[in-house]
Amino acid sequence: MLEKMQQLLNDHYDEMVEIRRHLHENPELSFQEVETPKYIADYQRKLGNEVREGVGERGVVAVLEGGKPGPTVALRADFDALPIHEETELPFASKTDGVMHACGHDGHTAELLVLAKVLTSMKEELAGSVVFIHQHAEEYAPGGAQAMIADGCLDGVDVIYGTHLWSMIPHGTVEYTEGPIMAAADKFSINVKGKGGHGAQPHMTKDSILIGAQIVQTLQHIVSRNVDPMDSAVVSVGHFESVNAYNVIADKVKIIGTARSFEEDVRDLLEERIITLAQGVASGYGAEAEAIYERGYPAVINHEEQAKIVGKVAEQSAGIDHVEVTSPQMGGEDFAYYLKHVKGAFFFTGAMKPDAKVTYPHHHPKFDIEERAMLNAANVLGGLVLETFDQMK
Ligand SMILES: [Zn+2]
Ligand SMILES: [Zn+2]
Repeated sequence: MLEKMQQLLNDHYDEMVEIRRHLHENPELSFQEVETPKYIADYQRKLGNEVREGVGERGVVAVLEGGKPGPTVALRADFDALPIHEETELPFASKTDGVMHACGHDGHTAELLVLAKVLTSMKEELAGSVVFIHQHAEEYAPGGAQAMIADGCLDGVDVIYGTHLWSMIPHGTVEYTEGPIMAAADKFSINVKGKGGHGAQPHMTKDSILIGAQIVQTLQHIVSRNVDPMDSAVVSVGHFESVNAYNVIADKVKIIGTARSFEEDVRDLLEERIITLAQGVASGYGAEAEAIYERGYPAVINHEEQAKIVGKVAEQSAGIDHVEVTSPQMGGEDFAYYLKHVKGAFFFTGAMKPDAKVTYPHHHPKFDIEERAMLNAANVLGGLVLETFDQMK
């Protein structure tokens, strides 16, 4: 059955490219998707699958019931684009100024739709069901996953898998790991309120720039002095703002940064330390600091058994010549929420263009993928469905 599926996917590769290019030309921003979900729903409906639109507001869920009883496997692909002006000069570049599929979600959708077509054509032989979760708004917190889950997209699902095409990983490679694979991505903002004054009379002021600089330094001690050396965390300040005349002592400073972690207790620690240190440093100087910690997506934590299955299936998949256990990435993904509800795993499918002189990262205006990577991803995802049907029968 695996060979049959691989052959059919191969036969439909041109269609996968066609769908990807159509979506690439017509990108839509997170929480503003209208035509994309309509296109997906039409495609799934034509296959004869049961389709539910507007799931969690903009998502699409299609269900394929196999001819024989068995488990239910969900596969998820996101479909939103980014507020980036495309500079690739591809013949199918974005037709919408300032909006671009610069993360490969066009590819995710194309590979899942064609896989749906192939699996639907094998329907009678399938010993289980497949739920295709087409998710809106991955790029912009709070994301679409939580709303889709609340709207029942995981009802009856036994296990879930998802992949991200990755331009920085060579084509033909699959990377996965057991446990954490992507980080919790949080944001903090600190407003320092001192007392401004004349640059020549520092003793009459509470210098917000000096206090802010001290806070930035102190925050760097959290990872080195508070976090367990065996755990991972990042605290980065990306924004420090205070504009005054050269001879003025600043009244206010605004500091904004990001905190990344994998474990919930480390995340709690980062939140508590950032707030306490910012307030403590400011009060030491007789000033005030208001610190706000906003939680983004939690860490993506793969279930051990399903991660092992990803490794095994990838080894047997057409187009994959290298399978690697990777170290986790500090980027965020709202696939994390699905894994809090059901067992499953997330992995990376290498999509680096083999002959490109320069490889651009995700979210870059010149970002592009090797399109054959979509076929590889579909092969692994389809293989995971068949493997699960076989194991859980
Ligand atoms: Zn992205
Ligand atoms: Zn992405």
